[in-house]
Amino acid sequence: MRRLIWLLGAFWAGQIQAQVLDWRQFEADAQQTLVDLIRLDTSQPKGNEYLAANYLKQRLDVAGIASTIYEAAPGRASIVARIKGNGSQRPLLLLGHTDVVTVEPANWTFDPFSGTVKDGKIFGRGAADDKGIVAVAFEVLLALHRLQIPLDRDVIFLGVADEEGGGGLGITYMVENHLAAIDAEFALNEGGRGTIDPITGKYLSFDIGTAEKTPRRARLIAHGRAGHGSVPSRDNPVGVLSRAVARLFDTPLPMRLNETTRTFFERLAATRPEFEAEVYRAILEPNPSMETQERLRDLNAAYFSIIRTSVVPTIFQGGYQRNVIPSSAEATLDIRALPGEDPEFLFEALRNIIQEPSVEIIPMRVTRPAHQPAPLNTPLFQAFEDVIAARHPGATVLPSLLTGATDSAQLRSVGIATYGFGPGIVIGDDNGVHGNDEYLRVAPYREYLHLIWDIVNQVAATPSIVAE
Ligand SMILES: [Zn+2]
Repeated sequence: MRRLIWLLGAFWAGQIQAQVLDWRQFEADAQQTLVDLIRLDTSQPKGNEYLAANYLKQRLDVAGIASTIYEAAPGRASIVARIKGNGSQRPLLLLGHTDVVTVEPANWTFDPFSGTVKDGKIFGRGAADDKGIVAVAFEVLLALHRLQIPLDRDVIFLGVADEEGGGGLGITYMVENHLAAIDAEFALNEGGRGTIDPITGKYLSFDIGTAEKTPRRARLIAHGRAGHGSVPSRDNPVGVLSRAVARLFDTPLPMRLNETTRTFFERLAATRPEFEAEVYRAILEPNPSMETQERLRDLNAAYFSIIRTSVVPTIFQGGYQRNVIPSSAEATLDIRALPGEDPEFLFEALRNIIQEPSVEIIPMRVTRPAHQPAPLNTPLFQAFEDVIAARHPGATVLPSLLTGATDSAQLRSVGIATYGFGPGIVIGDDNGVHGNDEYLRVAPYREYLHLIWDIVNQVAATPSIVAE
């Protein structure tokens, strides 16, 4: 019944907006805000996110919405604005990060800070990661205010600094020092997207980020005796380290499903062709064999990652001269822990696999905290399901576990159920996230604005009629 009331509320809100909200203008505004943000060079490591924070603050001032800038270090500014609801529900937080990764301008077709629009694409550093999301969150906040939509919950906008640096001067700073300004029941962040068929242009599925892995890198150092390369000693650190790394490479940690990955594979099993579906069904059985897991890896190596804590050797260093055995050799492991993984158990498990007493395991600095996934039984996840079903009937909604890390980690770690969602991507597109000629397609960007508008309204707007 409650759900019915929401749906009716969303329906009525939609009717009212149809009279007031000028969609063409709304889309144009979101695009212009994105272009404006791209033109502000907020690239790491300097960040200079104050440029974006000041720009957004000026626009909020003009609109008559109060805002506050929080500066974690000189120039490293985040901005918060809030539209008040009636307080009957806890707030909804809309966030995006205003910093971008650095650029190699010589390898770009366009000036990376120009926001050039060409062939239905918006080019620029940050177009896809993450200024498009910032601009939509921002325009949605302005529109809620402009149209005076009655809200059951506050809607908070956060343009946050330093995501690409791990969040220390952004989301971590906000959570540790200004949690009251952003505390919410739910948050919408980057970390999911629609998938578009390149031929039909139809949306096939929507990944909604509900969980992610926690980076926990470590160094392996093998110690031994230096000596002459003509004498084959047993404790040669290059050989011992090779053995240790090879064992880790050949021995994946045990698999484990959670609510997100179980639902993900269930929905894939129900919608994908039989040759794939069969593998997903097998993975959902108790204790799947390693052979089944390898078949999953054949389909998609990322699927092999989302069912376990992954241990990937990325750097291997040792030795300096061809006839000298060095006294040590070192490898770096990129470890991505599943939600709920106990670090002590994890490093103990690695020691057991390595089986080399002369190899030391040294955990590296942790930037993203351990946290639990966002649940699937919330009004916000329901809003994703309803809005996507209404706008894209037949598309599959897939709760997703990201192998990478985002600001959602810090928010989930303080109990804010955070969901990741961004503009759709056409299959086969490489939109240059963190690479050259980064771009965002205009059409999926407009659709993303529609989806977020509908989702925010369903979850935050006061139902305008009461179902009897
Ligand atoms: Zn990002």
